[in-house]
Amino acid sequence: MSPTELKKEWLAKWRRILDDNASRMNNPEAYRMMCRWETRDMLEAGVIDEMEQFEMDELADAAYWHAVEELVTTPAGYTYGGYYDVIRRATSECVGYIRSNTYYSAIGPGADGFDGKVFRDKTDLRLVFRSDNQAWAINGLVLTAPSGELYDLVQTAQFIYGKVYPIICDADTYRALVDYAQVALECRDFESYRKARPLLLSAQFTKCGACLDRFGQREDCSNCAGNGFVNTAGTQPTSPA
Ligand SMILES: [Zn+2]
Repeated sequence: MSPTELKKEWLAKWRRILDDNASRMNNPEAYRMMCRWETRDMLEAGVIDEMEQFEMDELADAAYWHAVEELVTTPAGYTYGGYYDVIRRATSECVGYIRSNTYYSAIGPGADGFDGKVFRDKTDLRLVFRSDNQAWAINGLVLTAPSGELYDLVQTAQFIYGKVYPIICDADTYRALVDYAQVALECRDFESYRKARPLLLSAQFTKCGACLDRFGQREDCSNCAGNGFVNTAGTQPTSPA
């Protein structure tokens, strides 16, 4: 392959990664890293120069910030690093736990220490049990058995870059983190923002949908009583644990 052909093919591959909207919205941090790994390898192979790498990384960064700004107002869904109690809705009984995509039954795990795994197939999420390979669908934070019985996934903690953090249940802590994340976002400070984002997403609060926490509108907002955010604890059953 000639150098020109190599460059053309490699650029096309990088473009496919850059244009992968599903990966960008599912895991923006991983998406940005994938894009940057590609340009780093291209630079090392002498296929692009540093200026080209800089410009390509700028595009990936812009795509990342665009995604996270959009995701701020997206309702909380299942996250890969989340720790959840699995609550049978009909009885409020905790039947098991999900820890970073691995399911453990409350009555004691099976022979190999766990009872199931969560898999994502494009946009479909499902919990697959080890004992019988049954797959239960996960939509938002609701798990549905093949019988139609519903189970709520109640988040208790979040695994972030090697550490487990309990979810934020304190309004003042949440407010401080929102302000910190806002500054990081405005300064395009990736290292700070990537740490704050999973904590904000897993918190027991979410941005107020009426005033969107905007200065000037927040003060008179009756939906959030001027806080700019609302408690989401009431929308899910509380965990007995
Ligand atoms: Zn409000």
